[in-house]
Amino acid sequence: MNDCVFCRIVAGEAPATKVYEDDLLCAFLDIRPVARGHTLIVPKRHATELEDLDADVGALVFRAGHRIALAMRRSSLAADGANLVLNDGRAAFQTVPHIHLHVIPRRHGDKLSFAKGFLLRRPHDPQSTADAIRTGLATLACQDDTEGFGTQEGMQA
Ligand code: 5GP
Ligand code: ZN
Repeated sequence: MNDCVFCRIVAGEAPATKVYEDDLLCAFLDIRPVARGHTLIVPKRHATELEDLDADVGALVFRAGHRIALAMRRSSLAADGANLVLNDGRAAFQTVPHIHLHVIPRRHGDKLSFAKGFLLRRPHDPQSTADAIRTGLATLACQDDTEGFGTQEGMQA
């Protein structure tokens, strides 16, 4: 095993609050969230930057981001939207060298709390936050009859 923290999270060797996983992807809460629910989606197979990422896996990462953003709208997080951000490379301020997509829930009129969250990066109760997202995913699955993100079944709520 390499010394990549996200590989260790994927392998269950470092702690993280996971909200979803399947054969190829893992999604977990950011340890220093900008907003409650801030989630990171990573490919399980290590890729440092977009240069190293299989394009089909990249498409699945975005599909997962799409799905989690919708789940945040259907959860008690009551998101009205989301920022989906991928910092590719150190030049783009990527700090963890294992590619990841940020999904940050947004609310109408949250400009001030978002700015504060950006400065403080304080953790919120991870268990209830993860539960909320999993419940949103389950609600979404009921609506469109899709459990996983296109690979295998996801984690159960
Ligand atoms: P980047 O700047 O590379 O796009 O974002 C890296 C993100 O990973 C940051 O938002 C940071 O808070 C998060 N992060 C860094 N180390 C860990 C960790 O050990 N666990 C979790 N869950 N998130 C991490
Ligand atoms: Zn890695």
